[in-house]
Amino acid sequence: MKKLEGIKNSLLKIQTLRRVIQFVSFLLIYSVILGINPIPLLLPILSSMGVQSKIVGEAFATLQYMLYETIFPWFPIAIFLLFSIFLGRALCGWVCPFGFVQDLMVYVKRRHMEVSLDTHRSLVKLKYVLLGIILFISFTVAASLVVSPSVGESYVKALGPFAQTPFNVLSPSDTLFAVLPKMFLSLRFAIYQQSFWEIVSGIARFSPLLWARLMIFFGVMVLAAYIPRSWCKYFCPNGALMALFSRFSFLGLKREPIKCTRAECRICMEACPMNVRITELPWEKFNDPECIYCLKCVDECPTKALKPKFP
Ligand code: SF4
Ligand code: SF4
Repeated sequence: MKKLEGIKNSLLKIQTLRRVIQFVSFLLIYSVILGINPIPLLLPILSSMGVQSKIVGEAFATLQYMLYETIFPWFPIAIFLLFSIFLGRALCGWVCPFGFVQDLMVYVKRRHMEVSLDTHRSLVKLKYVLLGIILFISFTVAASLVVSPSVGESYVKALGPFAQTPFNVLSPSDTLFAVLPKMFLSLRFAIYQQSFWEIVSGIARFSPLLWARLMIFFGVMVLAAYIPRSWCKYFCPNGALMALFSRFSFLGLKREPIKCTRAECRICMEACPMNVRITELPWEKFNDPECIYCLKCVDECPTKALKPKFP
């Protein structure tokens, strides 16, 4: 009876619905089963440029690519503004495939690492630095190609693969969804056609860029198992761009002061994967740039003091 009650309670949680939506979004975005035709929509999430069956585009990759083609990226910019002003970073919590994969990695470890507040605050800035570097490369490539094509060409040559889409060259999301599946496919054929040593020497001949990609990807995955959503909190430039505008979003959270017993309880903050300082924020409405609206805090609050608020 107790077990049944437990199952019923967990089914009624918002987190169960969130997992279902994340999974369905994943299937829809990659059109894995349904074979849906692509639609002309960009989303501010991390999926992968290199997957043919995808039905929506990636706003951040398109922004970089349009700059490389010296086209003003009004469409991806409008997408970033629209989504973050209306929904904050809710797509990070509910739709982004790479966010979903990180949420699954949390189940690998039972106990997670505590990051001190000071370290967390310093690390959060990293993603803005990364965003700044990527935008600097993309804008200077575009500017140099427009102002002086010959200088631009030399600059592009010097940057090599980083000229076109500087982020996606090493993006762990592209590695997971595009590079690794291709590698496994080639390995499957190689197993039948080549000897063990031929396969090993093929792996040893991987380019330094591919090794860097793989190392970044595995590093990000291991970190995600120890620190929930560590990539989203500390490194994701797409999340950083969303965070810049999401502090003005219509969507927010409110905390009812009569119900909240914050002096004794910090359950909401302990549940938050993004380390949002919930009880230190205004109770009428808060839209913290780090909040991904996963609503874990809403689920966990024992007095039901937290609720989403729109607008
Ligand atoms: S922060 Fe980046 S990886 Fe994380 S959910 Fe948002 S877009 Fe996806
Ligand atoms: S504050 Fe609440 S909704 Fe926002 S990220 Fe933290 S747990 Fe999720």
